[in-house]
Parts: sequence; structure tokens; C-alpha cells
Amino acid sequence: MNYRHAFHAGGFADVVKHAVLVRILLHLRAKPAAFRVIDTHAGAGLYGLAGEEAGRSGEWRDGIGRLVSAPISDQARALLAPYLDAVAACNGAGGGLAIYPGSPALVRAFLRPQDRLIACELEPKAAGALARNLAGDPRCKAIAIDGWTALNAYVPPKERRGLILIDPPFEEAADFPRLAQALAAAYRKWAGGTYLLWYPIKERAGPDALARRLRASAIAKILRAELSLALPAGETRLGACGLIVVNPPWTLAGELGVLLPALAAALDRGAGRGAYRVDWLIGEK
Ligand code: SAM
Repeated sequence: MNYRHAFHAGGFADVVKHAVLVRILLHLRAKPAAFRVIDTHAGAGLYGLAGEEAGRSGEWRDGIGRLVSAPISDQARALLAPYLDAVAACNGAGGGLAIYPGSPALVRAFLRPQDRLIACELEPKAAGALARNLAGDPRCKAIAIDGWTALNAYVPPKERRGLILIDPPFEEAADFPRLAQALAAAYRKWAGGTYLLWYPIKERAGPDALARRLRASAIAKILRAELSLALPAGETRLGACGLIVVNPPWTLAGELGVLLPALAAALDRGAGRGAYRVDWLIGEK
């Protein structure tokens, strides 16, 4: 395991993933019944943006750094406000950006007393930081466990309401087929859950094969969202990513139709227009 999320914290891919994650959490909060979030590849939870890794890569400057100061339509701003407020809350009253919350910290910010989070992380340093960052909150449990094993072990949650976030590092090409298999197996155990999967787009073969496998699965409703930025010449960073949402909240497709163009414009690096799409792989059209 060489992947260190700290280099990428708050970068464009985190912004896209976390903006959508928060929309799903808000939907879960709309009903009083308890929900549980299982974050299979959680990372450290909080990232210092001036720290050795995030400070060196500077990816956050082109992600959350750009978003907080970009002109955004009122409609998109209203959808992004809860996410941006949660990021601001990690940074105290001064208004600057020193800390970026990863997925478990964002989930925690939206839990009510009755809700629960299980956050799994295998890399020892990140797992230690995660345990410290979630310590003292009885609603949250950090577990140093293989996320794929956790998916099998903790699904379905006893609340029978909630979200499974699957956000592996994609260090190996095998992560794409594994994602489809693991999702299908979890869905067989819990068809009523919402599942959010993130993937990088470096070429089309992996993402397209994932879409084909999912279209051939027994899952009834799958929404896909992809965003690609035009990057300056010579840039080698990741500029495109996708999300799969199984059993999305009924409002999400419409929200993504507002959010993705707003994020494409806000995160634009001046190298041309970005592109996005929101489509149903299975189910509602
Ligand atoms: N979900 C996090 C967020 O949005 O803030 C980012 C997660 S990062 C993309 C993937 C994480 O998975 C890394 O922290 C990595 O150490 C961890 N990881 C790698 N293999 C794992 C495994 N088999 N089980 C659990 N975690 C793993």
C-alpha cells in the first residue's frame, strides 16, 4: 500500500466526491430514523493543508482552494453550502483553509445522536490518525480492517438505512473489477442501501468495463456521474473522476445536473472547457 491520500486531500476529486457525499447525508437526515454510514476506505479523516504531503502537492489549491473563492450560481451555492460550511467549521473562525476534512470527518459532521459511522482504514499511519480523529465520539468507530472484508462483515447494518462509501486507492488495475464484484455481493446482502463508489478516469477501459459489469448486474437503480477538467499542457495529475450511486436519493440526479456544471466551471484551470455527464446505468431515465 503506497497510496497516501494526504497528497490529494482537498483536491478536485475530493471536492466532487465530498459534495455528492454531503447531498446523500442530508437526504438520510431528512427522516428521523437512524442511519449508519460504512466508509470502507476512510483515510485519516483530517488533513493539514500546510503539512508535508498536502503542502508539497498543493492539489488542494486547485480543488477546495479554488471552489471557496469561485463565483457560483445561487442554485449551486445552496446545494454546496452544507459541504462548504462543514469544511469551514473544521477551520475555525478566521476564515482561512488550514485543515481539510476527509470522508469520515464529513460524515461525522452530519450525524445526529441516533446515527452511526464505521470507518475502516488499513494503512497503519492513516489508521492511527483516523482513530485519534474520531476518538471520544460514541457514534463513530474507527477500525483498522481491510475495507473489502468490512464490506462483507458489516453489511447489512442493523439500522437498515444508510450509506456505504467505497473509495479504494486504485493502485491496481484489479480495483475496477473488484469494485463491481464487491458491490454486487454487498447488494445481494442489502438491496435497500445506498452505495457511493468513486473511481479515477485515466483512460476509458476501466470505467467503461465497470459500467458494463454493473449494467449486467441484478442491481435495480444505478446513477453515474463523471466530471473531467481540461488540464494545462504537460499536467500529469488526475483530471477526471466518476461516481456510481446505487439507490440514489430521488433528488440526487437533479442536484447533480446543477452541481456538476458548477464544479466544472469553478475548478476550471483555464485550459478549455471541462465536460460532465449524469446518466442512469440502470433504472430511472
Ligand atoms: N475516503 C477518503 C476520503 O474521501 O477522505 C479517502 C480514501 S483514499 C482514496 C483510500 C484509502 O484507502 C487510503 O487511505 C488507503 O490507505 C486506504 N486503503 C488501501 N487499501 C485498503 C484496504 N484494503 N482496506 C482499507 N483501506 C485501504
